[in-house]
Amino acid sequence: MLQVKTPVDAIKIIKESFKGSISATEILPLHACMGRVLACDIHADQNVPNFNRSSVDGYAVRAADTFGCSDSMSAIVKLRGVVNMGEGAMFSIAPGECAYVPTGGAIPDGADAVVMLEYTESYGGGEIGILKPAAPGNNMVYIGDDVFPGKTVLKRGRVVRPEDIGALAALGICEVSVVRKPVVGILSTGDELVEVSETPSAGQVRDVNSSMLYAAVQSFGGEPVCLGIVRDGYVRLRNALNAALESCDMVLISGGSSVGQMDSTCAVIDERGKLLLHGIAMKPGKPTIVGNVDGKPVFGLPGHPLAAHFVAKVFVKPLIEQMLCCSTRNCSVKAVLTEAVSANHGREQYSGAILFDKDGVTYVEPVHSKSGLISTLAGCDGYFVVPRDCEGYAKGTEIEVII
Ligand code: AMP
Ligand code: MG
Repeated sequence: MLQVKTPVDAIKIIKESFKGSISATEILPLHACMGRVLACDIHADQNVPNFNRSSVDGYAVRAADTFGCSDSMSAIVKLRGVVNMGEGAMFSIAPGECAYVPTGGAIPDGADAVVMLEYTESYGGGEIGILKPAAPGNNMVYIGDDVFPGKTVLKRGRVVRPEDIGALAALGICEVSVVRKPVVGILSTGDELVEVSETPSAGQVRDVNSSMLYAAVQSFGGEPVCLGIVRDGYVRLRNALNAALESCDMVLISGGSSVGQMDSTCAVIDERGKLLLHGIAMKPGKPTIVGNVDGKPVFGLPGHPLAAHFVAKVFVKPLIEQMLCCSTRNCSVKAVLTEAVSANHGREQYSGAILFDKDGVTYVEPVHSKSGLISTLAGCDGYFVVPRDCEGYAKGTEIEVII
């Protein structure tokens, strides 16, 4: 019999046991940083922009020269010059003068606002009519408005997104210190498994978990390595685990995690290191093992692909994030159940969910799946959880669906 832990306790045990396992850092070129975790705060050492610039095509003016003007009574100012893109303003503006400035162009000294071209007219002979009064600062971006020296632009632990890369580029940062991805070895065990490229005979199944867990680890921010299929048997699994631990920071073994005759994951972890838990009160996913071997986390995931999927999501993801010193939020939506969902087994229940909108309401259709199946989950938009102490939900209940 498994001594099951609640999911909450299991997460606590896992995180606590590996709180010292923090990945090292590495320096990457800026373009390679997407999705990576920043290893340190990024402080600006310069102003962006580094000159006052216009946010519109128009005329840079002294705002005071435009006060009181209107469509019917323009303020007439003298065109002092034209500012070209990519050049500084070579002149300054005196009272009664203006300068043409394109969007992003430099504002000449003396000007304190820009009037959009649409609110001006040219009378020839260098005379420009302003048809709308400007307040000081109108349509101007000042030196350092975006970033100024000392400003913390991005915080350590941030998962880099395209807009962050834009901000780093603006600062001239070409190389970034990021947390190295933990290398996660993936082993599939079972005499019945064949490669994805093979046609299974009766009694055989394709190795779904290697590919699925590879993708999952990638999405969690780790560096997956598929180590292949290991046939059932204690010695074979022990040898495969030993080899995996030489090059990996974490190992996921799927299959053989229960208490069957051919299930040796528990015994191998127990012999090689410390068994932290065997059994989690969740469905699917009960026969889950977590161990500490040579200071490295080793997971024994259930062989059923659906179970392996949820266990990876709920327990492997937070540990990888802890090793990366980051944490991401689940994205969820509230939706109304299209049918009742039962659950009365004292285990946290995970189900796939399909979302759709009708008459302005978001509905969720639960996907009933035996844990041996995977394709049902493949078309889902997300999943939802029925807590351990809840006997289920009535049709029409609003629940939270994790995307
Ligand atoms: P086990 O956890 O080894 O008892 O396996 C439970 C079920 O999951 C069995 O039906 C296995 O055939 C299946 N299974 C185990 N490993 C995999 C895998 N890598 N891909 C697909 N199915 C698997
Ligand atoms: Mg098996």
